[in-house]
Amino acid sequence: MILNRRVFLAGLSGLTFSHIFAQSLNNPSDETRLKKEFDMRLRPHHILDIISDLGQGINYQPHPYGHSLHIVAPRLLSHLDLQIKLVLEADDICQGCMHLLTDGKCEDVLAQLNPSPSKQAYNDVLDCRLFDYLSIEKDRVMTTRKFLKIVNEKVPGIERICTHPKENQKQRLEGLIDGFIKLGIREPSKPLKI
Ligand code: SF4
Repeated sequence: MILNRRVFLAGLSGLTFSHIFAQSLNNPSDETRLKKEFDMRLRPHHILDIISDLGQGINYQPHPYGHSLHIVAPRLLSHLDLQIKLVLEADDICQGCMHLLTDGKCEDVLAQLNPSPSKQAYNDVLDCRLFDYLSIEKDRVMTTRKFLKIVNEKVPGIERICTHPKENQKQRLEGLIDGFIKLGIREPSKPLKI
């Protein structure tokens, strides 16, 4: 039996076959062969922000912060069947942001409030409340379409949680409804369940 050089050297160093196998999964060329579990990682409230902006006709340009909202939003909206991992941490939108620290935390603050709270803490509390309200556990993977259908069942109501400080709650609700209608998630004539 011919041992290849890697297995032979590993045997000498006392590594088991399982170690070798585990190491091979860390090789990028092997990783690409594994099935990808999701296409994007997003905080729930970032998705709701995008839907509300869509309803209000807001178009994105590159932001001075350098984050990736202008790249992520069009991709999300034009491919509703992408698999989204719903996270409680920095997400794909945060990529490139000047406020994203190397440990994955956000160093920004909510400048519209005085004193200004940490955006990291604010985002975490907001997304925890959304996970609870929607009965979805964090790190769950589902299509954007499925997530939006779950959210749509909570409209109206969810705007009481996801409206940001100094934002208008009615405008937020109308933005969400119009966004859902534009995406075909909600019937234009569907009456509000108030
Ligand atoms: S949450 Fe923080 S790190 Fe992420 S895009 Fe917003 S400001 Fe940047």
